[in-house]
Amino acid sequence: MSSSLKGFNVACPKCGAEKQINVPESLFFQKKFGTVKIKIPQGAVCTDHNFIVFISTKGKIVGYDVIDASISSDQDRVLPKEIIDLTLDKLIDAFGFNCVIGLIHAKLFDYPSFVLRSEEFKININQIDKIFDSLIPLQYRNNNAIKDVEFDTYVFNNQNYFYTAFKDNNTGAFLINNRKHVIHKPWKTTCDFEKSILDNALGRKDEGEQLNYLAQYINQFIKDVEFTKTLLENSKRISEKDLIKQLKEKLVVSTINKKRVLIIKEFIKQRFSKELSDRIKN
Ligand SMILES: [Zn+2]
Repeated sequence: MSSSLKGFNVACPKCGAEKQINVPESLFFQKKFGTVKIKIPQGAVCTDHNFIVFISTKGKIVGYDVIDASISSDQDRVLPKEIIDLTLDKLIDAFGFNCVIGLIHAKLFDYPSFVLRSEEFKININQIDKIFDSLIPLQYRNNNAIKDVEFDTYVFNNQNYFYTAFKDNNTGAFLINNRKHVIHKPWKTTCDFEKSILDNALGRKDEGEQLNYLAQYINQFIKDVEFTKTLLENSKRISEKDLIKQLKEKLVVSTINKKRVLIIKEFIKQRFSKELSDRIKN
């Protein structure tokens, strides 16, 4: 029998690095139902982590798990009951890096988001929602709370059918599952900004302060946005180049570059108006 390979775009649940991994198709013939577990060794997708990816027998990634004795041996302790103990690391352990990035983006850019689950989730979703809210300045918090949805495994014996059905009814929402997998992103932009502030916050030594740093980075970004908004309100059009120049002069604390301007533009379009963001010309 020929051993053909099937490629999967695998994302590390600890750091978000992505890479295509080829898996022998024969693995899926051996199992008719459920999921195939594949161990990803350190170095295969990213340099620092090993983890498990779950692939349905229909050939779709349905989740991830981290290989870490201190966590996987006792899922109940992944998140403590006290909100006060919650660190960025624990959030990433619970949701996966790319899901956390997406949740920050959803909150900041005002998109609804859902955690789809087939089993009891040992996480209080309201509490999680409050944490993400607390990262954002008060006047930019919105009604798009993170919600969780449980699906009936009797009705949907294949979870992908549920995901597809739910996605079709919520095309504007960010969807993840309780196994660290991003199911649907309603935006076209990459989340480079969110990734960089998350990396920066994780780089801070004091774990208890990492969430505060994240909030500070977001706050600085909002200040940049508001300054840009005022500029745009007072001009009919401005070239990207001129805008970068003006922001560099006035916003000395921020690193202003093309990427930053793009994300500011996206925020203005999503939160204020397309007409205003269109005043920034290439
Ligand atoms: Zn990694």
